[in-house]
Amino acid sequence: MNATDIGYLVHLAFIAGAALFVMGLHQMNSPATARTGNRVSATGMIIAVVAQLISVTQAGVGPVNWLIIVGGFVVGGGLGLRLARSVAMTAMPQLVSLFNAVGGGAAAVLALNDFIALDGHRVLSGGAPGLDGWRTFFILADVIVGSVTFTGSLVASAKLMGLIRGQPISIPGGRILSWLTVVVGISVSIVLVMAGSGTVSYDVSVLYTLLVVALICALVFGLLMVLPIGGADMPVVISLLNAFTGTAVSMAGFVVGNVILIVAGALVGASGAILTRLMANAMNRSIGNILVGGFGAGEGTQAAAAGTDGTIREVSVDDAAIQLAYASKVIIVPGYGLAVAQAQHGVRELADLLEARGIEVSYAIHPVAGRMPGHMNVLLAEANVPYPQLREMDEINPEFERTDVALVVGANDVTNPASRTDPASPIYGMPILDVDKARSVIVLKRSMGRGYAGIDNPLYLNPKTGMFFADAKKGLAELIGAIKAL
Ligand code: NDP
Repeated sequence: MNATDIGYLVHLAFIAGAALFVMGLHQMNSPATARTGNRVSATGMIIAVVAQLISVTQAGVGPVNWLIIVGGFVVGGGLGLRLARSVAMTAMPQLVSLFNAVGGGAAAVLALNDFIALDGHRVLSGGAPGLDGWRTFFILADVIVGSVTFTGSLVASAKLMGLIRGQPISIPGGRILSWLTVVVGISVSIVLVMAGSGTVSYDVSVLYTLLVVALICALVFGLLMVLPIGGADMPVVISLLNAFTGTAVSMAGFVVGNVILIVAGALVGASGAILTRLMANAMNRSIGNILVGGFGAGEGTQAAAAGTDGTIREVSVDDAAIQLAYASKVIIVPGYGLAVAQAQHGVRELADLLEARGIEVSYAIHPVAGRMPGHMNVLLAEANVPYPQLREMDEINPEFERTDVALVVGANDVTNPASRTDPASPIYGMPILDVDKARSVIVLKRSMGRGYAGIDNPLYLNPKTGMFFADAKKGLAELIGAIKAL
């Protein structure tokens, strides 16, 4: 087989890989086929990597480059495998955010390397082959989007890990600095693209300085974009950063002329953008505001406490069991605490028990419950909860008024009525599950602890609400025992 034949085969493999990515994504539409979708996409990725290695072999890279390729594969692949296997389900969002940072950073480094390798100075001033206007444009787009993603995702990850405060962190003059980085970054990029196309010519030291300025602006913008975002707004920004990673990778594909990078990056970018829009709509937020850093609780706004005065009503396991056992309609509202306690099997067992008594049971799923998009769906699917019982927020909300008991298990922010009534609350305007409209509410959590947004929940002071203080897994086991004993 000659080199041309191998080149065709490599391209064919890339097309097959891309087709498998699309098929895999399509299967991820439904929880029933999501696992297969994951495997199909992974197969596409293996095909693409093997094809790329064959192509590299054809290009005749030296032993040092092979050492770098194999070394990177072993270290990166090994670390990724270890992390993915050992990570607790509850720590998945911060891991995904770290992977976003790595993806964005890698794409930016690739573009920087390309700029240096093509020797901007010689080419820009002499018009020799290498950089041209378009190539410089893609390099800069890659450096900027990749760098914003890198620092933004690191901050998001640190917030989710609790290394820095999860609440909005406002920096004095942060918004002005954000705008400054945007204006300066875009201006130097325009100059560099003009230099790349031969419209203007500068000394090499000026060109490299401008590139470094664009890089610093993007890195600082990433920080400033995510620091003022906090609480209930985080899911939207994580999803947006995911879309950025895809876009950066796609740009990197243009820079190095690699079709599979372009396709894979575009798919991640497009699906991330769709998810961001869906989540922003669900949270009643505007994506435009995120980009300028005026999102969530803006500068000077403190996370408001939504009413801490009043008394709470504590219920015993027997009280809660009696309410549930003699209801005719129960809605279970799962949240982050369910994931922490790994109580998904317990909740399923309780639902089965109630259904066996002729009670109608469904689960209300808020789009940002838990710590990652689809978190509750994944958890409950693991416990084989029938999909038709999982009801999205818009669909289930009108049903709360006809519900005897809303059982909230480890959820907090997604049930907080302050979002409707308190304009000072950082979650004001966010649609919530209308738990407080049910005839009675039982909240199963360990204490009066706050949720991710760090604010109090007036639902707990509502006379209809009974607080059942326990770890979700332990509390559910006690409830099941008490109902069986009735
Ligand atoms: P919250 O974070 O609002 O509340 C979780 C509650 O669970 C806490 O109040 C805690 O109270 C309780 N809890 C913790 N551990 C246990 C346990 N072992 N047993 C019982 N209860 C427990 O969760 P929600 O799901 O209601 O809301 C999600 C929040 O996370 C939203 O603010 C959302 O914006 C944010 N977020 C979501 C992301 C996503 O993509 N879905 C990503 C990033 C942030 P206590 O300590 O008293 O037990």
